[in-house]
Amino acid sequence: MTADAAQAQGTDATPVPFRAEVKQLLAILAHSLYSDREIFLRELLSNASDALHRVQFELLTNREARDQAAELAIRITTDEDAKTITIADSGIGMTADELAEHLGTIAKSGVKALMEGLEAGQKSQMIGQFGVGFYSAFVVAEEVIVTSLSYRPDAEAAEWRSSGDETFTIGPAERTERGTTITLRLREDAAEFAAPWRIKQTIKRHSDFVAFPIYVGDEQANQQTALWRQQPHQVTAEQYNGFYEGLTFDHNEPLLHMHVSTDAPIDLHAVLFVPATRERGLLERRIEGKIKLYSRKVLIQEETKDLLPPHFRFVEGVVDSEDLPLNVARETVQGTQIHQRIRRTLTGRLTKALGELAKDDAEKYAIFWREFGPFLKEGIAIDPMVRGDLLPLLRFHSTKAEGEALISLANYAERMAEGQDAIYYVLAGDLESARQSPHLEALGARDLEALLLTDIFDSVMLEGLREYEGKPLKNLDDPDLTLPGDDAGAASRVDDAAFAALTARVEAILGDRISGVRGSTTLQASPARLVSAAAGPGREMARFQRMLGRDHSVPTKTLELNRGHQLVVDLARRAGDGADDALVGLLVEQLYDNALLLEGLHPNPAAMVGRLQALMAAAAREGK
Ligand code: ADP
Ligand code: MG
Repeated sequence: MTADAAQAQGTDATPVPFRAEVKQLLAILAHSLYSDREIFLRELLSNASDALHRVQFELLTNREARDQAAELAIRITTDEDAKTITIADSGIGMTADELAEHLGTIAKSGVKALMEGLEAGQKSQMIGQFGVGFYSAFVVAEEVIVTSLSYRPDAEAAEWRSSGDETFTIGPAERTERGTTITLRLREDAAEFAAPWRIKQTIKRHSDFVAFPIYVGDEQANQQTALWRQQPHQVTAEQYNGFYEGLTFDHNEPLLHMHVSTDAPIDLHAVLFVPATRERGLLERRIEGKIKLYSRKVLIQEETKDLLPPHFRFVEGVVDSEDLPLNVARETVQGTQIHQRIRRTLTGRLTKALGELAKDDAEKYAIFWREFGPFLKEGIAIDPMVRGDLLPLLRFHSTKAEGEALISLANYAERMAEGQDAIYYVLAGDLESARQSPHLEALGARDLEALLLTDIFDSVMLEGLREYEGKPLKNLDDPDLTLPGDDAGAASRVDDAAFAALTARVEAILGDRISGVRGSTTLQASPARLVSAAAGPGREMARFQRMLGRDHSVPTKTLELNRGHQLVVDLARRAGDGADDALVGLLVEQLYDNALLLEGLHPNPAAMVGRLQALMAAAAREGK
């Protein structure tokens, strides 16, 4: 049918108003997509490709589907004089009702998220980076005409038409071939898209790997070959990156790709990617990894869960196997034995690839660790079966690694000291506090190393990481920690009687916020620290709950005082006077708060200001 004939028919049809959110989207797109407007083509081709995949799947089992023999392809024709582009596919097609439903409302959650993001004032220039769908056609077109014939044998052809203003119309159409044809009457300022070279260039840029041929005139414009079925050595880095972009709409290069292409023992062709960042923001099309599952080049499942373990759920890519039974329902693929074998193979290969990245490119691995470490930590915590695989991938800050540098458990084990039988760590809210932690003073001159755990997920990981190669992990705040070699603590300068008096005073001041006071055998430079009341993993989980904001209580710990520290010596002297010295109260409270701060446990540091001012006033008076 010609555009004119369609026009004639369109005038008979009743105009239907767009849903409010569509109108809103159209207005936003018109304003913000201008510089990226060529992506309209990517969106329309992506829809055509989806429609072809869906009919391909249908044709496997449905003998009734219309046009069994039609070539699965996309054809683009342009008319430079009339300034039109026509994009025709032999896909699944739409009935009149489906046209109204799919092109009159915004069903897609990605677009909804986009609109919410834009309302929240997010940068509209980001629009080009994710799927904006069918309506992007109106950025280049003053009118869009869609005719379609559904694969259903009893369906009738229908037409949808709109100028992208308030309404669209639905009417009958003359059409006998299955599929959808979209005609764009280009705006004056978008006339360039009527030139075949411009269309071909855009296809190369954004749609090269669409799995069906895209013809521009008589010429096929896309490369089309399934990248994952090629041999890895034949594929260039640029091709992997281009493929990734087409798959995810993520403009950033992926951090890592892994390509498996084997025929035996199972037929398996897969390209998997680790993205460069964990979340590509509110506006992005997808937040978590999605894997497309193909069998014999037919897309079986768009978002396949369970092809990788949960700790790799950020991975994106394509998996294709001839061995997957095609005639089963999509839902039942998951339970099959072949599915399990694919999962084992991919998991093993991915684990290996990450291990190699860690070895070959520490810098890149550090980025990986920063972005996706939490997933591996969670894996360690919840699945004992994967622990062995994941241990070599873990990385830590450490007292023997400067700045942000990371070490592995193997690095730690290699340089353990004579007689050392455990791996030590401290928990803190951030790296700075960790390096200042008074618990580290126990390490003293012994040349022992401690891991510095500052990530919120470290507490979770510790649930499942109680030992490494037979060596237990020990928190340096354990109440009865013993370290190899002599005690490192400062020599006592407070006699037992004076210390007992001080202890009584401190316990009276802090009450049940602490479980007791004791002298330290390890502290050197710090006056005090908080040790856990009892050893055991429970406190790490409690810490996690606190960090999530689910628990606001401060755990009760033992306050350990350094009997060799001048501040403690002076405190003991003042406490020994027995005078009701308000200053002792302030000092003890502040000493306790300081210890909480260094643990990352202080519930409200601002509350210290009043007391600090009182202490400053006292100090200033003293100096007069
Ligand atoms: P999305 O593709 O993310 O669902 P779009 O706005 O691009 O969002 O498309 C909306 C819907 O319109 C699609 O989900 C599909 O049902 C339908 N559609 C669009 N183009 C076609 C087409 N060429 N053939 C069949 N259906 C289509
Ligand atoms: Mg789409």
